Amino acid sequence: DHSNGTGDTIAAIVTPTGGQHGAVEIIRLSGPSAIAIVKSLFLPARKRQVKKLRNDWNPVSHMVEYGTIIDASGALIDEVLVVPMLAPRSYTREDVIEIQCHGGGICSRRVLHLCLEAGARLAQPGEFTLRAFLNGRLDLSQAENVAQLVSAKTVSAAETALAGLQGGLSLLVQSLRAECIEMLADIDARVDFDDELPDLDTISLIQRIQKAQQQVEQALTTERRGKLLQVGIQVAIVGRPNVGKSSLLNAWSQTNKAIVTSVAGTTRDVIEAGIVVGGFPVKLLDTAGIRDTSDEVESIGVERSIVAARGADVIVMVVNAKDGWTEEDTHIFDRVLKIREMSSRVAQSMLVINKIDQASASTIAGSKFANPFDKVVATCATQRVGFEDLEAAFLELVGTGNVIVGGKMWAVNERQAEQLLRASKALERLQVSIKQNLPMDFWAVDIKEAAVAFGEVSGDDVSEEVLSRIFSKFCIGK
Ligand code: GDP
Ligand code: ZN
Repeated sequence: DHSNGTGDTIAAIVTPTGGQHGAVEIIRLSGPSAIAIVKSLFLPARKRQVKKLRNDWNPVSHMVEYGTIIDASGALIDEVLVVPMLAPRSYTREDVIEIQCHGGGICSRRVLHLCLEAGARLAQPGEFTLRAFLNGRLDLSQAENVAQLVSAKTVSAAETALAGLQGGLSLLVQSLRAECIEMLADIDARVDFDDELPDLDTISLIQRIQKAQQQVEQALTTERRGKLLQVGIQVAIVGRPNVGKSSLLNAWSQTNKAIVTSVAGTTRDVIEAGIVVGGFPVKLLDTAGIRDTSDEVESIGVERSIVAARGADVIVMVVNAKDGWTEEDTHIFDRVLKIREMSSRVAQSMLVINKIDQASASTIAGSKFANPFDKVVATCATQRVGFEDLEAAFLELVGTGNVIVGGKMWAVNERQAEQLLRASKALERLQVSIKQNLPMDFWAVDIKEAAVAFGEVSGDDVSEEVLSRIFSKFCIGK
């Protein structure tokens, strides 16, 4: 239950606990008993008294204190640095204390255990950020960006999350919600006191609504970019054997993850390479040549390529300039098109005409075969020629609208987009109701709906259930 969640004091190890350990591990406490709990365990070294006593520490906010942690029997558990960040100057706006222990996993666990014995409760995933939200330090969309920031896999993804955390979307949504509430007040007043007020200026009202709707639409254009930054872009490289798919993947990723071979049909598994293009994490999948085959092992590869292409955001079909467009290419193209139709995602397609060192690309590029593709580029994979064009074309394919607020680019996530879409539809209905001269009660319903949708983004109108869903996705310690 979130409503009484701020009564107790929570604690967690906030540095990684599984796998590799660093030199330092940090325990974070937040809540009204954080000071009392740490006081009962911590002996500051600063006081050069003969007898060091428990409860002898007077924390000064944002002042690091060196000392030792002792257990109930007085046994030394660790040498630590303690950092108090007292309310309200902390992440949660509660008293927060961080204890820096020696790394390796043992010290931090023992210290955490002592904190729990002294009355702290183990924090749930996202609970520190939840408290920051409940105490008004962050709004909900900012809190969501905290989770996106710590899970970001590229610099651009991190920068986008940071822009969101700094409040770009928050500001927009707050002003839109305030605008709705203001319009609602104007309308409500006329519903209640029809005769005493001048008529509403419906022309300027519609202008206000249209402006709000435009801003919502603009924010919505960031969703795809945000999703691709967070989740990454899957690229399936398809084509008949020997056209240079593996060479293309190698050259593009500048690694040797793919096995390049001149024997037809030997690339049987799907090979993956992770690269970053224009800040987007991109996963290249090199698939076996798609063709009907009696060879059982190879047909497994073919199956895999179809699966890879089905899940892809971009399908890159490679053909060969020297051979020109062959019947087999047409066959593969038909299958790729079928894959596109079956795909749940909106896959885009790119034709790569490879081996341009052996023949001109223009024969294929100028033919009807190239027409159905969203982009066409020419490469020589072995000499790494044409890759600048390839990346530019690729970025145009995945490129999406940007919203710049205070020079920062943020993006909306799926949940926020859902609510913004709901608001946009309500604003659309509202305009129709006004133009059709429907009773003002109808107008009020739609404005309320839009205001609530904005409130769901900012967290002003959000349900407990939505909150738990959002914060349960965080890691422990955040
Ligand atoms: P895949 O079967 O489609 O993956 O094709 P590979 O990448 O294994 O390449 C097949 C052969 O074509 C290899 O001998 C490559 O070195 C060669 N090759 C790939 N790209 C080019 C290119 O742009 N020019 C030339 N001349 N040879 C290439
Ligand atoms: Zn290959």
